[in-house]
Amino acid sequence: MQDELREYLRKRDFATSGEPRGAAGSGSAAGREARFVVQMHDASTLHFDFRIEVGGVLKSWSIPKGPSVAPEVKRLAVPTEDHPVEYADFEGVIPEGEYGAGTVLVWDTGRYRHLSTDDLSAHEALERGRISIWLEGSKLRGGYALVRMGKSSGDWLLIKMRDEGADRRRKPTKTQPRSALSGSSLRELAAHGPEWR
Ligand code: MN
Repeated sequence: MQDELREYLRKRDFATSGEPRGAAGSGSAAGREARFVVQMHDASTLHFDFRIEVGGVLKSWSIPKGPSVAPEVKRLAVPTEDHPVEYADFEGVIPEGEYGAGTVLVWDTGRYRHLSTDDLSAHEALERGRISIWLEGSKLRGGYALVRMGKSSGDWLLIKMRDEGADRRRKPTKTQPRSALSGSSLRELAAHGPEWR
């Protein structure tokens, strides 16, 4: 299991980055619903990192435009390395010179359920390149599909399903930019500097 975090651990210097070292499997206590988190990350380019807890780690995608709540809108989601479950609570400043340097804000978080159609586990569904999930966040609610576009491209799409959580008029990435954990803005977090954790 620790193997899943090898790339995460290799890319970072935990003496300075301020991010959690974590441990694979640390968040997967039996009977707990799995977590999801969407982090706004003001790095070399502003993007959103979408992470869902599967098998004791956070499976992760980088979403340049962020998630949409409009039904059937497809957002490019580029897979990134697995993160430890503890990362779901991380917001603050990654110092210059570190991987992903910039400000991280927990834009939305909560529990999610895997909407299994054919008795596949979430892990198996991801392996096959298609998973449907139900988010219980403060900004994102309802069904989403994550679909791999093709093995050769490796890129995925995040698609909002048609349900009560869908809304064509809402643009929460623009109108609700503050942290779901602390209520802070990116600018406020950045002003605290790398010492703020
Ligand atoms: Mn990122």
